[in-house]
Amino acid sequence: MQTRLFTEGRIVVATHNPGKLREIRALLVDKGIEVLSAVDLGLKEPRETEDSFTGNALLKARTASKTSGLVALADDSGLVVDALGGEPGVYSARWAGPDKDFSIAMQKIEDRLSENISPNRRAHFICSLSLVWPDDFDVTVEGRVNGHLIWPPRGDRGFGYDPIFVADGYDITFGEMDPSQKHSISHRADAFNQLMRACFRA
Ligand code: IMP
Repeated sequence: MQTRLFTEGRIVVATHNPGKLREIRALLVDKGIEVLSAVDLGLKEPRETEDSFTGNALLKARTASKTSGLVALADDSGLVVDALGGEPGVYSARWAGPDKDFSIAMQKIEDRLSENISPNRRAHFICSLSLVWPDDFDVTVEGRVNGHLIWPPRGDRGFGYDPIFVADGYDITFGEMDPSQKHSISHRADAFNQLMRACFRA
């Protein structure tokens, strides 16, 4: 993996999702970095046209860096289900439909899994993070948390597919877990830790 130390002091976070922005801002502000958002700068979000998490994270960060002239950080994440050939994968958000109804998306996964003769319920979450400089240099990492899927869904503390995901070594779902505990073991935490080690002074 190529690396470069971040020394600029200002960064634009290429997301329109207020939850993600809050989480990322908290991590970077601690390091004395000024965090601007895509919304602050009036940047448009490009369509996620790539077929990998890394491709989409890179696309979003590149677009934001090019249009703002600043170092840009973007992420892309989703749920990968082994027995469904990796679906919903990069389409994780889209499986919830225009109303972003994740009970529909979770039901769709369960229906497809129960069509399978194989009892394989293994799944993992992936989070790709990409940091891109205005000269197009990028540092891109991929975080992961392994686990399995349960049915019916349990817990309302998380979002998305959290109520059906149980991480390895635990017996409660991400939806039942204390958010600070989830944030310490999640795919997003793994990706952030990798990026912090590669580009940010302790
Ligand atoms: P993104 O905003 O394109 O990265 O879409 C990610 C989608 O993947 C979200 O809408 C969720 O459905 C799913 N996802 C990603 N991370 C998590 C997580 O930590 N818990 C539950 N679902 C997640």
